[in-house]
Amino acid sequence: MRYLILSDIHANRAALDAVLADASGQYDGILNLGDVVGYGPDPNYVADVCRTFSAPTVRGNHDKAAVGLIDLEWFNAAARASAEWTSRTLTSENAAWLAGLPSGPVHIDGFSLVHGSPVDEDEYITGGPEAREAAAGSDANLSFFGHTHVQGGFEVHRTGGVRMVGPGSVVIDESSTWLINPGSVGQPRDGDPGAAWAVYDTAHRTVELHRTPYDVLDTVRRIVDAGLPEILGLRLYRGL
Ligand code: ZN
Repeated sequence: MRYLILSDIHANRAALDAVLADASGQYDGILNLGDVVGYGPDPNYVADVCRTFSAPTVRGNHDKAAVGLIDLEWFNAAARASAEWTSRTLTSENAAWLAGLPSGPVHIDGFSLVHGSPVDEDEYITGGPEAREAAAGSDANLSFFGHTHVQGGFEVHRTGGVRMVGPGSVVIDESSTWLINPGSVGQPRDGDPGAAWAVYDTAHRTVELHRTPYDVLDTVRRIVDAGLPEILGLRLYRGL
């Protein structure tokens, strides 16, 4: 089975469409690590498309924010403005779908899906200490996570050593715990503006990390037209 793994799409229609076109024929099923909405100008388009996948999906903090499940005081001004706009804009069907998404970990086919970390859905795995804590708190040898918008991840060896993984191809083995981030489709923060995604092949136990250039200007225009903070568009050019 080959899974297309998507995370942090963030209501970016052009990025999602480009990834689906590029990944076409390379997967048998889709998995979604959350933050379907927030920041971007097309929450209904993206939620409508994601609902048609019928993909196992975990909720992200921006999904929760858009449907009133968390306090917006944790968000910076631009994130708060976008969360308020998103919650006004969502159709009742999409709001109900987002509100019903489970928190991670969700177990699939011998591995697990989380938005932030296996130990806390809102935690960021940004380095060795967080990776070690996540590995210790996970009952799966392989977890896919998002939330940081940084493609790659960590191999935590049973001796406690931590190695960063990616870019390119990652081979999963049994001697370590693997925490892998496909990167963000709709708002990359690792210095590459290309939409990020991954394919996990369960038969070969390989993860391929991919980037797809897309029409950033189209998304920026739509952000401005929606009246969302301009910074949310400008950061897409730099991928930061
Ligand atoms: Zn996110």
